[in-house]
Amino acid sequence: MTGHTRPAQTEHRPPTEATVKQLYATAFRCGKPECPRPLYRMNNETGETILNSRIAHIHARRQGGPRWNPQMTEADNRSAGNLLPLCIEDAAEVDETPAHYPADLLREWKREQLREYDTIQRAWPITDDQAAEAAEQSFGPQQEAAATAAAAAVAQVARCASRLVETSRQQRRAAADAAAGWQAMRARWAQSLGPFFDPGTGDRLTSDEAQVEPPRRDTEECESALRATLRTAKEAIEPVATDLVAELGAVRVVARALGLRCDQVEQDARSLVSAATQWDLSDPGDGVWHQAVARLEAAVQALGAVWHEEDARSQPPQPTVPQSEATACPPAA
Ligand SMILES: [Zn+2]
Repeated sequence: MTGHTRPAQTEHRPPTEATVKQLYATAFRCGKPECPRPLYRMNNETGETILNSRIAHIHARRQGGPRWNPQMTEADNRSAGNLLPLCIEDAAEVDETPAHYPADLLREWKREQLREYDTIQRAWPITDDQAAEAAEQSFGPQQEAAATAAAAAVAQVARCASRLVETSRQQRRAAADAAAGWQAMRARWAQSLGPFFDPGTGDRLTSDEAQVEPPRRDTEECESALRATLRTAKEAIEPVATDLVAELGAVRVVARALGLRCDQVEQDARSLVSAATQWDLSDPGDGVWHQAVARLEAAVQALGAVWHEEDARSQPPQPTVPQSEATACPPAA
């Protein structure tokens, strides 16, 4: 090795206000194709223009940030070519879920935004004060901290929810074994008495059809074994559900638009806890629990997707919680 290798920079200075003015002088609306939001909006009463956008970095300004490119020079990083004015929601979104927004895609958006300016010749020739405001809002520490916190909270909810599903799945195996033991005992008992025939037709009947049940004293041991597994399940699952609810609270604080989706996740998590702490002998496929898992997973996905798809204002789907038909074993006390 000869000469000095300059250590790679891990953070670049923010863009200059001159660059900010240049960006707004060559763009009219959000750089996401099909997003109609203008970069500034008008207050109809006062005629004031109000900042309606943020400037996103195609490659982040800091190591570890979205689409960080260690090869990029500082001059390139803070140049207009690496910067894309977007509406506030889309600016947050491209940084929260950068995997959905690779640099090549954002560069294509950038080209499209400039093409549109060439065509319509509409843009926002802003003042120095407005440029300073846009820079502060786009690159200031508070803005970045809020975006990071929201992303972290949504990711944490997803992790907690999958831990809840996994914990309940593990506990379900023990309950299934106990229930199978109960069923096997019934089958053995029926076999020792059978076969059974319909008194009218003489047709052979199964033990279920013949409605033979072992005497109570024989079922008690099996039933108490099943109850014990459900109590253990409850002890294992409830703390995980509590963690999930706490993380949902964190999302509600940093991303209020996601409140309805958070409510849905919470409701489905509670349904899963309820399903996982009961056992219905007449539901041999454990369908109620499987449905509860599927609903929770869909709700968590919807929470992530809404962050991504930006339709947080739409109503969440109405829950279709089936009435639990658990008859054999009520919730563990
Ligand atoms: Zn937009």
